[in-house]
Amino acid sequence: MASSNRNLLVLPGDGIGPEVMNEVRKIIAWMGNRRAVGFDIKEDLVGGAALDKHGVPLADDTMMLALEADAVLFGSVGGPKWDTADFSKKPERGLLRLRKEMDLFANLRPAKVFDALVDASSLKPEIVKGLDIMIIRELTSGVYFGEPRGRQTNAKGEVEAFDTQRYTVGEIRRVCAVAFELARKRQNKVLSAEKANVMHTGVLWREEATKLHKEKYADVKLEHMYADALAMQLLRQPNQFDVIVTDNLFGDILSDEASMLTGSLGLLPSASLGAPDATGRRKALYEPIHGSAPDIAGKGLANPIAETLSYAMMLRYSFDLGKEADLVETAVENVLKAGYRTGDLLVGKTDGTKKVGTQEMGDAIVKELDRLA
Ligand code: NAD
Repeated sequence: MASSNRNLLVLPGDGIGPEVMNEVRKIIAWMGNRRAVGFDIKEDLVGGAALDKHGVPLADDTMMLALEADAVLFGSVGGPKWDTADFSKKPERGLLRLRKEMDLFANLRPAKVFDALVDASSLKPEIVKGLDIMIIRELTSGVYFGEPRGRQTNAKGEVEAFDTQRYTVGEIRRVCAVAFELARKRQNKVLSAEKANVMHTGVLWREEATKLHKEKYADVKLEHMYADALAMQLLRQPNQFDVIVTDNLFGDILSDEASMLTGSLGLLPSASLGAPDATGRRKALYEPIHGSAPDIAGKGLANPIAETLSYAMMLRYSFDLGKEADLVETAVENVLKAGYRTGDLLVGKTDGTKKVGTQEMGDAIVKELDRLA
């Protein structure tokens, strides 16, 4: 395989994570052999697997490797075996530590409908056909992190719980900048969503998005919408959007809603990006949005496409290998067109399809890469 100065940390994790990562390894090998796109790869444990070996869901040494790497390719974590672990040791804490210490504040969640799967969506084909939107969720601040938070007994003797929604100008501007820059490489449109009608953070968000737009990104079309109105518009006419940027809480909900427009969890990748350093390099973690799917783990049934497309996002955003990313995405699209389906995709019209397992799907993608190259 070609040598490189691209440092990649692979963290397969638990459940179906290692299975889908095995299929991506085939594509990594193909890229090395056929396109001279090599990586220096390190691999380590995360989640339940790390807990079993080291007693923590992410060892300090693994954290160091992640901070040194140009990109982290992540599988999934969690499963019933660790459900009773202490809160601080839950497998998911491993992922949260990575996001926090790498300061991955911009979470990119594409929602794209492949033509071959237009019937798998719960919405009518004419509503979702050609859908290709990118939701950018602020990931490290807002109500999930704001202080004070907790529980107390109030003056009336009643127990109450509280969280704080808090955003600084800097936090708003840096995530909006990612949205504007990404839009320039797409359809040049950003929709910023908040609740400026009822929340102070929403007012500040709208002001700062508008100011930043005027200062640096006036060539991009910017619109604003209340987050609840956006929730409706995503179902009514999702094709009107290109890049959507919003806060942590609204982004959590709206990106899940958008993902359902596409039909299956097994198809959806994501990227989480940090701030650029002096050389322009951003810390970055790429992962499918699905979890460890304990119900199908170890059975060879998992769909490897979400992990494959996460790898394609990594090529595009961390290594500026847009052509290679396009190649992987086209191979996936063609394999779906040819009728290959893992079990999760066998919804809607299924005539002309061929049911395959994890490895067969991975092999079909590599074979298609061979054909395209
Ligand atoms: P899940 O995403 O693991 O599974 C939900 C459903 O979708 C299951 O029926 C599963 O079989 C199916 N599915 C998911 N990915 C698939 C794929 N690639 N191919 C085919 N089918 C797929 O969510 P869950 O069941 O709520 O959670 C299971 C475990 O995963 C829990 O421990 C949870 O905490 C963890 N989790 C981890 C992450 C992560 O690692 N980022 C995200 C979500 C959930």
